[in-house]
Amino acid sequence: MKAAMLYGVNDLRIEDAEIPKVETGEVLVRVKAATTCGTDLKIFHRGYVEKVIKLPTIFGHEWAGEVVEVADNLDWPVKGMRVRAGNSAPCLHCAMCQKGKYNLCENMIWLWGAYAEYIKVPARMVLVNMQEIPPHVSFEEAAITEPLACVLHGAEEAGVKLGDSVAIIGAGPIGLLHLLAAKKMGAEKVVVIDLVDERLNCALKLGADAVINSGNESPVERVKQLTNGYGVDIAIEAIGLPVTWEQALKLVRKGGTVLEFGGCPPGTDIRVNAELLHYGEVTVLGAFHTTPLHFHKALNLISSRTIDVRPLVTRKVKLEEIRQAFELLSTSKTEIKIAVNP
Ligand SMILES: [Zn+2]
Ligand SMILES: [Zn+2]
Repeated sequence: MKAAMLYGVNDLRIEDAEIPKVETGEVLVRVKAATTCGTDLKIFHRGYVEKVIKLPTIFGHEWAGEVVEVADNLDWPVKGMRVRAGNSAPCLHCAMCQKGKYNLCENMIWLWGAYAEYIKVPARMVLVNMQEIPPHVSFEEAAITEPLACVLHGAEEAGVKLGDSVAIIGAGPIGLLHLLAAKKMGAEKVVVIDLVDERLNCALKLGADAVINSGNESPVERVKQLTNGYGVDIAIEAIGLPVTWEQALKLVRKGGTVLEFGGCPPGTDIRVNAELLHYGEVTVLGAFHTTPLHFHKALNLISSRTIDVRPLVTRKVKLEEIRQAFELLSTSKTEIKIAVNP
């Protein structure tokens, strides 16, 4: 089969690979769509994320497809079924899983290999993180279950609720998914901050109440103006840079919550003013990845179009064009997610 193999920074090659063999509990799926993700782009440009990916590997982690082979011991799924799965499966019995923190599982398995004609789903993942896709939902939409699941987990941790004002730093795919989720969770006002006007226009189209180009004006001052001088109830950082992690702290009112969502490079420190936490009672949260529960919720919300992810797929390409797709994502101001159809 054809597969896009990642060897290192900026080194992605289309190669012939063996079609994986199905063993006990496993399922082989013909990939129909795999979507690009900010995490892919970071790994492509910056290098691998320890524990989460080992190189060389077939790249890509957001996908959906059709079941072509099922291990003999399984009654579900069946051949021909449209499914999505992964990209993680917790063990359910480590100390973190026993605390209900499935996203922090000590023995998490990760599945890479979406940018290929076939992908094999490990037994544990078939059990805890595979779903059938309803007929009216496209493979491209279903592939977006993964980032939406991460966003739902973060938004729930931050406690976005009816009537809240929310500021989101970053109008990339994750920031835009946060916008869609926050509006559905009842946010009264969502302000989106970015450096690129084209992305801010996209945020406006998707329902942002106000946008701020931080290259032209101070987000801190403008957010204060928009909130009677107080700051927002919840600020969400969706970029992954120390400067914006620190900026998020300045956008919230007293008693507000900051969700630091974008992953910074390893070894990053940020400065937090102690008065802000003490006198200001600001809560600062991190959020990592997501849980099987949120994967299920995400696909259900995509299926019912409660959260309509269709506008996020701005282009479809063939597997052979994947390098160009990554280059385009790095330079274009209008591309959000590109769907690869192997
Ligand atoms: Zn992703
Ligand atoms: Zn575990």
